[in-house]
Amino acid sequence: MKTIKDFKLESKRVIIRVDFNVPIKDGVILDDNRIVMSIDTIKYAMDNGGRVILLSHLGRVKSEEDRLKNDLSIVVPRLSSLLGTDVKFCEYTRGSVLEGMVASLKDGEVLLVQNTRYEDLNGKLESGCDLELGKYWASLGDIFINDAFGTAHRSHASNVGIARNLPSGIGFLMQKELSVLESVRDNPKRPYTVILGGAKVSDKIGVISALANKADYILIGGGMCYTFLYSLGYNIGKSLLDSDSIDYCKDLMNKYRDKIILPVDNIVSSEISDNSKCELTNIDSIPSNKMGLDIGPRSIELFESYIDKSKMVVWNGTMGFSEIKNFEVGTKSLLEYLSKSKCDTIICGGDTASSAINFGYKDSFMHISTGGGASLELLEGKVLPGLEIIEK
Ligand code: AMP
Repeated sequence: MKTIKDFKLESKRVIIRVDFNVPIKDGVILDDNRIVMSIDTIKYAMDNGGRVILLSHLGRVKSEEDRLKNDLSIVVPRLSSLLGTDVKFCEYTRGSVLEGMVASLKDGEVLLVQNTRYEDLNGKLESGCDLELGKYWASLGDIFINDAFGTAHRSHASNVGIARNLPSGIGFLMQKELSVLESVRDNPKRPYTVILGGAKVSDKIGVISALANKADYILIGGGMCYTFLYSLGYNIGKSLLDSDSIDYCKDLMNKYRDKIILPVDNIVSSEISDNSKCELTNIDSIPSNKMGLDIGPRSIELFESYIDKSKMVVWNGTMGFSEIKNFEVGTKSLLEYLSKSKCDTIICGGDTASSAINFGYKDSFMHISTGGGASLELLEGKVLPGLEIIEK
């Protein structure tokens, strides 16, 4: 696959698809890792005389309220300071202002374009990989570099759509992600354990059967464990349930009962807040009016016993609602345990990566991937559309 080093960049308009989809709360970036990880590629393009045009999405944009909440200009100060230059910002995703700003870019300058998903308000043009939009964005550049690993599993106008229309390659972050994750996919050290959690139950349930074939153990916590527990007949109270996936979970448990390990206790509460009253219960005694929001101490010990047996651990999805202090213990404890363990650990994206970085474990693991869904799909053996188009 071509990389940025295979192109002559001088005086060329270089479109780089980056992943600046950073977690934000009350107007503050909670974790800037994705911005930091994109710097090498952007700097390389600047230093080699490219006229750099950056495209990224931020959050989901389905309403006017989402649009205001997900204004990408929020990353400009941090990006400018990391690059040591003033990054220009265009508040439009198309039109004469954008075209004028692109035309006036000088060699080595950087322009960031507004959130690509603003185009989703126009009938999902970005997420639906609209042909005309891909062509339009491609018309702004001479070369396309995809460095957004976190969206490589999606076929969107700002990755696949542009790559269809321009000479394309990948950036340094994408290269690094691929080299680590492909080696795990093709040749994992064994015993190989996958830890899965988080909220997006339906997104990940599909991945489990694929990984169950490859991994030796799958430890399931977070919101997604409750659909498995429900399928085994447990009363899960008001915990997260993906009702469309109950039969699927049941089948998986029948097939992989020895491999799939579920929590044995959990922290329950009737509300998700810092002030909520919490209670520790066994998994078979969740009160009907409460929800499970973190794994309990016996589950932590159980999961640690599998970590002890493992040579390689891949983890995606928090063990509890870890943004709230009351429910961070499961995630924090396993991070700490893994940071001291001898096994090779890969943390896969999203909230798990943010938790690892914010809890102080940024440099404690073999790799912290910038992609959640993308890394799981790659490990599962799927072809990622954002890369396939470039390979072609
Ligand atoms: P994901 O993006 O799928 O990795 O999901 C991460 C999200 O899952 C975080 O925002 C967590 O707060 C949420 N989460 C983790 N455990 C639970 C739980 N037991 N119930 C509800 N949400 C949870």
